[in-house]
Amino acid sequence: MIDSYKHKGLRKQLIATIKEKGIKDDNILAAIEKIPRHFFLDSSFIEFAYQDKAFPIGNGQTISQPYTVAFQSELLKIKRGEKVLEVGTGSGYQACVLLELGAKVFTIERQKPLYQRTKAFLPTIGYNPRMFYGDGYAGLPAFAPFDKIIVTAGAPFIPEALIQQLKVGGILIVPVGEDVQTMISVIKISETQIEQTEHGTFRFVPLLEDKADNK
Ligand code: SAH
Repeated sequence: MIDSYKHKGLRKQLIATIKEKGIKDDNILAAIEKIPRHFFLDSSFIEFAYQDKAFPIGNGQTISQPYTVAFQSELLKIKRGEKVLEVGTGSGYQACVLLELGAKVFTIERQKPLYQRTKAFLPTIGYNPRMFYGDGYAGLPAFAPFDKIIVTAGAPFIPEALIQQLKVGGILIVPVGEDVQTMISVIKISETQIEQTEHGTFRFVPLLEDKADNK
């Protein structure tokens, strides 16, 4: 795989586009400028890698739109060294952005072929999040609590296990809804209290119920 000057130039244009749409965090812009998104797409889609669009990654799933990746990343307010859980590994692109922000990343995927492909692929381009095959609704109790949690599929409701696995003071970002989702930011104020804010509407593939066969 080659990351040419042409690809780098296209990434600069992509950065200008998502800045125009309102992304301000310099660390997030730098991460997106650095990561070769075309490595994450099927070769037949490579020419579209630097449009601000979601694309198919096989198994009926998509790599999220760069603006959406940046928007969710901003809401997470990542500080270096924080422990972050991602639900919905997919292509692994969002996980790489979180790694570039200095997070310790744990990520779960419920489709085995995607999990296997991404687990084999990411280390080849120098990214090593902890990757798990399993059901995101259950979170990752063995590694909890987390400073931050990001869900990258549309959830019909906020999974309770994820709130439980959040540290007090931690933030959970989750798109909630069936066809269209409202981006919700949940702050865990105390062991028993959360505060929610809404951040506009998005479209994600659905967060599906447990079909992983390791449960
Ligand atoms: N973050 C990804 C985009 C993911 S698309 C990226 O950067 O490419 C959403 C992903 O969530 C899909 O791969 C889908 O298989 C996965 N998913 C759906 N339901 C899930 C669940 N219950 N647990 C874990 N992953 C799930």
